Amino acid sequence: MNNIFNLTLEEIEDYLISNNSKKFHALQLFEWLYIKRVESFSEMSNLSHDLIDLLKNNFSIDRLKVVDVQDDKDVSKYLFELHDGEHIEAVLMKHDYGNSICVSSQVGCNMGCKFCESGRRKKVRNLETYEMVLQILMIEELLGERISHVVVMGIGEPFDNYDNLIKFFKIINHPKGLAIGSRHITVSTCGVVPKILEFSDFPLQVNLAVSLHAPNNEIRDKIMPINKVYRIEELFKALKYYYNKTNRRLTFEYIMLKDINDSDECARELANLVKDMNCYINLIPYNETNNIDFKRTNTIQLMKFYDILKMNNINVTIRREFGGKISAACGQLRSKKEEL
Ligand code: SF4
Repeated sequence: MNNIFNLTLEEIEDYLISNNSKKFHALQLFEWLYIKRVESFSEMSNLSHDLIDLLKNNFSIDRLKVVDVQDDKDVSKYLFELHDGEHIEAVLMKHDYGNSICVSSQVGCNMGCKFCESGRRKKVRNLETYEMVLQILMIEELLGERISHVVVMGIGEPFDNYDNLIKFFKIINHPKGLAIGSRHITVSTCGVVPKILEFSDFPLQVNLAVSLHAPNNEIRDKIMPINKVYRIEELFKALKYYYNKTNRRLTFEYIMLKDINDSDECARELANLVKDMNCYINLIPYNETNNIDFKRTNTIQLMKFYDILKMNNINVTIRREFGGKISAACGQLRSKKEEL
């Protein structure tokens, strides 16, 4: 049975109209789901019995099962069980500007980035829209606080689950949905070029981050298999198209791997690669894991890399680390589950 949290407001309106009901009930339903937060259709007291029966007979209102919550200072990890027994993770980070959540978009991932624990498990399936929406809604309720920022940067390649992702954005951004401002939402891709082009036409001002992680094809080929499909030149052509259409600043994620992509020469090459773009680079200190051989760049080299970018007038930040036990970097979440 279709879960009601899968539907955008427009889809509920269409459903109601095609079932001889009134369009305005869709907004009432949205309010019950996202503002009043009821857990059964029967509690929707301003809907008629006939409409409640229609909804009950055609939709489930089931939530996810929270099976574990682990806290480490300003970060908490939530492990959810899905209806088919699969598990997904979402990570809450507390910033001074508000609560941010890193959402997963798939069970497993097919992109196979070499530094990523999640990439070790092949994609089992895409998450449905409701499974993404409920990660936020349920954490808000457990926390008793509002989530103000969302990054789709957990397990999975979001653009490999594009249609469900777009519906997710529409629901969480809607004022009667979770009302999260589009500029507070970021989606991260490893570089699925056709979807970057498609996303250029998406009207909401959602931010785009690209997991770049290398300044040239030679290094990127070694750590990110997607680069064999979409070369850096093609990726940057798509990103320029995206920028020309949207005028939105891009973020490049760059995970610092010792002796792989962290030399002074790499920094200069990276500066040269992005110099004409309105972007900033987010350097991510790598979290070493037992299962993968990559090592973390030491702090001196990290700062040198940062300085070279700065000297070349590139906007650059170093990602704040959260207690060192959980990483919010794309795909590094799963490995941390056992370590907390
Ligand atoms: S880093 Fe992201 S895109 Fe790459 S394998 Fe991991 S989850 Fe997939």
